[in-house]
Amino acid sequence: MAETAKYDIVIIGSGPGGYVAAIRAGQLGLKTLVVEKDDKLGGTCLHVGCIPTKDLLLNAEVYDYFKNAKEFGIVCKEFSIDWAAIQARKTRVVTRLAKGVEFLFKKNKVESIQGYGRWVGPGRITVTDAKGQTREIQAAKIVLATGSEAKTFPGFEPDGKTILTNKEILALNAVPKSMVIMGAGAVGVEFASIFHRLGTKVTILEMLPRAVPLEDEEISAELEKSFRHQGIGLETQAKVEKATKTANGVAVSFTRPDGKAQAIEAETLLVAVGRSPNTQDVGLEKSRVKLERGFVKVDPYMQTGEPGVYAIGDLVASSPLLAHVASREGIVAVTHAAGKPVEPVNYTQVPNCTYCEPEISSVGLTERQAREAGHKVRIGKFPFAANSKATILGSREGFVKIVSDETYGEILGVHMVGPRVTEMIAEAVAAMRLEGTVEDLAYAIHPHPTLTEAVMEAAHAAHDWAIHF
Ligand SMILES: Cc1cc2nc3c(=O)[nH]c(=O)nc-3n(C[C@H](O)[C@H](O)[C@H](O)COP(=O)(O)OP(=O)(O)OC[C@H]3O[C@@H](n4cnc5c(N)ncnc54)[C@H](O)[C@@H]3O)c2cc1C
Repeated sequence: MAETAKYDIVIIGSGPGGYVAAIRAGQLGLKTLVVEKDDKLGGTCLHVGCIPTKDLLLNAEVYDYFKNAKEFGIVCKEFSIDWAAIQARKTRVVTRLAKGVEFLFKKNKVESIQGYGRWVGPGRITVTDAKGQTREIQAAKIVLATGSEAKTFPGFEPDGKTILTNKEILALNAVPKSMVIMGAGAVGVEFASIFHRLGTKVTILEMLPRAVPLEDEEISAELEKSFRHQGIGLETQAKVEKATKTANGVAVSFTRPDGKAQAIEAETLLVAVGRSPNTQDVGLEKSRVKLERGFVKVDPYMQTGEPGVYAIGDLVASSPLLAHVASREGIVAVTHAAGKPVEPVNYTQVPNCTYCEPEISSVGLTERQAREAGHKVRIGKFPFAANSKATILGSREGFVKIVSDETYGEILGVHMVGPRVTEMIAEAVAAMRLEGTVEDLAYAIHPHPTLTEAVMEAAHAAHDWAIHF
C-alpha cells in the first residue's frame, strides 16, 4: 500500500453528480479529490448517455432535413450517411466537453486520480489503479457518486455486436438494417428516434401498457400515434421471453397478454430496461450505509447512514436517474459537508426530458396523479398545429398541457410533446418554483413567433381563452 493522502472531501465517480459536486467543493475552499475508475472524466452522461445520444439525434435531424429538402425549396439530389464521420463528430463533441471538465477542475483546484475507489472505514477509502496497486486516502467527508449501469439479465448479455446496451450501441461500426428495442422508456425511444431516421427498421417491445409510462397518459398516446405514423413498430404489453442468436442477428420471442407467443428477427437487439446502481464492490457492506433494492438511502442533505458519507446521483434510492438531478444533489451534498446552509432538492419540481422525435418534457404531477391527490383539476391544452413557429418549422405535432388546481390556479404539472419542447420546460419549472399560477403564465408576455407561445396559450386555454385555437 502506497502513502496516505488527506483531503477535506473525496468524491468517488466523475459523472454529472461527482464532477459538479467537486467543482462546488473547490469553490467552497475544500481540498477536494475525485476518484474515477475510467481514463476520462464525465461518467455515463458525457461518454455513453446524454451527450453522445443528443449528438446522434442531431445527425438524424439533419438527415431528415435533407430527406425533406424539397419542402423547403432546396433541391438536393445526392446525399448519404457517412457513419464514420458521424461517429468522429460525436467523439469530437464528447472530447471537447471532457476537456472542459478537466479545465474546470484545474480552475477550481480540484485534484483527480484514476483508480477504483472503495470505502474501507470511517474517513478512509482505498484507490486501486489499473496495475492493481492500492493506496489509502483519508477524507473528512466522502461522496459516493458511482452512478449506474444498464440492467442486463441472463440470456440477454451484451456481446457488442448483436445484443447491445447504451454503451455498445454507441460504438457500432455501421447503421444496422433492423433493430428490436426492449423498453419504451426514455433510452429506448431516443435510440428508436435516432436509428429509425437513419434508416434502421425499428420495433420497440414494451412490457407496460404504454410507451414512456412515467409521462402523462395523453403524452404517451401522442408519442405512440406519432411513432406509428413514422413507421416505428411499437408493441405494448409485450413480455420479452428469450433472445436467440441467428445467422443474421437475433430472434426475440415475446408473449402478448392473451398468452400468444410471437418472435421478431432483427440484426440487433437493444436492451433498454432500466439501470442498476453501482453500489456493489465499493465497500458498503461493511458500512452503515443502508440500501433499498441496491440503491443508497439518504436524508434530504444526501447523507447516508454512515456518518460523513454522502451519496448522490443515479445510485440514490427514489431519485430520478437524470444528470441535472445528480448535479443538484452533488451541490446539496458538498455544501452541507462544508457546513454551509443549503436547500434540499425539491423532487416535485424536477424537469424530465425525453429527446425522441417528437420531443417530450414535463414537470410536476400528471393529470391522473393530480386527480388522485384530490385536486380539483383544471386543464389547459394548446396544440402546436395552431402555433405559427411550429408551422414555419414544418413540425406541427403535439401539444402543451398544463395541469392546474381550480381553486387558486396553482400549477401542478406541465406536460409537452412536440418540437423542441425540451428547451421549453425550464419556464414551467421557474414558474412552479416562484409559486406562479396558471394566470401568471398566461399574462407573462411571450415573444412571437416562438414555440413558447404554446405555453402561454395553454395557460389561457385553462380558462377557455386561448386566442389561436
Ligand atoms: C443512453 C442514455 C441517455 C441519457 N440521456 C440523458 C439526458 O439526456 N438527460 C439526463 O438528464 N440524463 C440522461 N441520462 C441519465 C444520465 O446519464 C445519468 O442520470 C447521469 O449520468 C448520472 O450521473 P452520476 O454522476 O450519478 O453517475 P454516472 O454518470 O454514471 O457517473 C458515475 C461515474 O463513477 C465512476 N465509477 C463507478 N464506480 C466507481 C468506483 N468504484 N471508483 C471510481 N469510479 C467509479 C464511473 O466510471 C462513472 O464515471 C441518460 C442515460 C443514458 C444511459
